[in-house]
Amino acid sequence: MKPMKTSRTVRPIQRSDTTGGHDYQGRSWVYILLSGPTRGLSVGVNLSPSGACDYRCRYCDTPKTCALNLEPVNIDELALELNSTLESIASGQMSRQRAYSRFPSEWLSLRQVMLSGEGEPTLCPNFVEVVETLIHARALGRYPFFKLVLETNGSGLERPEVQHALELFTAQDEVWVKLDAGTDERFRFMSGVDIPFGGVLARILELGRRRPVVIHSLFASVDGASPSRSEIKAYLSCLSQLQEHGALLQRVQIYSVMNSIQGSQCAHLPLASLSEIAGQVRCELGVETEVF
Ligand code: SF4
Repeated sequence: MKPMKTSRTVRPIQRSDTTGGHDYQGRSWVYILLSGPTRGLSVGVNLSPSGACDYRCRYCDTPKTCALNLEPVNIDELALELNSTLESIASGQMSRQRAYSRFPSEWLSLRQVMLSGEGEPTLCPNFVEVVETLIHARALGRYPFFKLVLETNGSGLERPEVQHALELFTAQDEVWVKLDAGTDERFRFMSGVDIPFGGVLARILELGRRRPVVIHSLFASVDGASPSRSEIKAYLSCLSQLQEHGALLQRVQIYSVMNSIQGSQCAHLPLASLSEIAGQVRCELGVETEVF
């Protein structure tokens, strides 16, 4: 899934090899991201450099083609890039770079390694190998512990290889699953795809019964209109039903688009509106929330 870029994403680094605030520093697979939502530094692994995704979200700023160009990640290159990036962060070398030196040190400690990308990471043909590579790097113990975060639209969660890879996740690791709607109609509009909303919820439920899941929800104004009360109510009802049927919701993240995408009907929703939705989630479901 496209790595989140929100109104609070820190985007100070404008370099020729920087894509959308993600600092690749000449690497192919591994980037660095400073952001408010993660309260510091993330290392990201781009599992879909071609932007391959089976959704067509209206707010997504990665150009999408009809073809799903599924390219495997080069595992040898990934391992080299990951280790050099983690080494650079752990040794303090990165924080001495001009682009980062003006940030306080607490911003520059590693929070997590994210499985993300320009498209949907669970479609990556060698997803298991990627996860094994990250877990191996962590197990070596050369760097301070980092958690893994998979950021996904959920469409590949049923793939056996993805299920196998997620069994390698520990309790500290997290899976963030996109849920931008509460009704079939809104889902089809926001995602740009014609698949049943019930199936989306079923995949979240299946995952949430096996391990805690972080719900990752983008709310936007559409043609200048905020989400209606009935839409928010339907969204809360979906979360409630997931809980009632046994899904463990670890956290709910509420955020919005950062910039209006040219030609898109979606635009940023004010922080006050996002906070109001998060308040309802906390109040009605008793689940921890985050607002970006
Ligand atoms: S799930 Fe949506 S936001 Fe994420 S990469 Fe696909 S089209 Fe873009």
